[in-house]
Amino acid sequence: MRTVIRVCRSCRRYSMRLKCPECGSDTRHPAPPRYSPEDRYGEYRRKSIIEEYGENGKHSDL
Ligand SMILES: [Zn+2]
Repeated sequence: MRTVIRVCRSCRRYSMRLKCPECGSDTRHPAPPRYSPEDRYGEYRRKSIIEEYGENGKHSDL
């Protein structure tokens, strides 16, 4: 059985527990399969678009 390392969602503390021993928040796997640096840029880009054009996507034809 391999070791499962997890990371706190709030304070980024690494732990093997389901709850962070530091702040008590839920932990999760530090590197989910779908995670990639590009997703962060995508999220940032979407937020920027929403802030600029609104959530209804007035410029969705772009
Ligand atoms: Zn924590």
